[in-house]
Amino acid sequence: MISGKTRLFGIIGHPMGHVRVPTSFNERFARDRIDAVSVPFDAPPQRFAEAIRGLRSLENLGGFVVTAPHKQAMAALCDELAGEARLVGAVNTVRREPGGRLVGELFDGQGFVRGLLAHGHALAGKRVFLNGAGGAGHAVAFALARAGVAAITVHNRTRSRATSLVQRLARAYPQCAVAPGPKDARGFDIAVNATSVGLDSGEPSFDVSELAPSTLVAEVIMKPEKTALILAAEARGCPAQQGRHMLDHQMDLMFDFMRIAAVA
Ligand code: NAP
Repeated sequence: MISGKTRLFGIIGHPMGHVRVPTSFNERFARDRIDAVSVPFDAPPQRFAEAIRGLRSLENLGGFVVTAPHKQAMAALCDELAGEARLVGAVNTVRREPGGRLVGELFDGQGFVRGLLAHGHALAGKRVFLNGAGGAGHAVAFALARAGVAAITVHNRTRSRATSLVQRLARAYPQCAVAPGPKDARGFDIAVNATSVGLDSGEPSFDVSELAPSTLVAEVIMKPEKTALILAAEARGCPAQQGRHMLDHQMDLMFDFMRIAAVA
């Protein structure tokens, strides 16, 4: 039951129809008897800074999740960035401290890696094809490099973004062989979609028809649960990891960071 004492936790993005956070958070609040509610904040880019100024002033706001297209803009609006957010230059979770101070961190990459490991997929020494060098692509690439993959080839529709990600990755993780490359997932151990292709379209974001059946195909998109890429990978006989695991496996980290806990 929402009362005057209920704490508020949002998710801010634009558009918002596809987000899963309010459902997942509210289920968890009910299960764990936490007096909190999660709601969507739809903020177009041109009014994003104004929306954040408003959120700062809400004393019952505990924090919020940040989704596309605001993850990089949010990094510039935080008063403090925690480790991964500073490294990658993007934020997906903000803790609002009393008085309105905003502290940002990025858990997408850790969620992605934790999800794969929890499903028994080894990462150390693997060769990865990564399609997408946006916010999710950056987070996934840094986390995979830290998890010990041997090589990452990055493709992005806008090539300059792939090049920029590769340069930053190479500086942060010189032991990982990183390079920009064509949209060709053949010959890799793991092939990842980190673009938004698959949200609306019926087309897989890359071709899986010639992949070895041992290739793990992983997705960041959560809706639909089985994207065209996942369906094509399953039809090919490849192991496939859905996007929802990336969120599910970062929820504990988000809750700890935003200090969400049941009041005794
Ligand atoms: P973003 O920063 O806006 O990047 C979008 C990416 O998709 C870019 O690489 C972009 O390429 C590419 N793209 C978009 N339309 C394309 C098209 N028609 N053809 C080829 N490439 C296209 O967004 P983001 O934050 O990375 O989010 C991407 C997706 O990941 C979203 O669907 C989001 O919901 C999902 N996501 C899921 C989780 C999770 O927990 N499962 C977490 C984070 C994000 P260009 O650079 O060329 O524009």
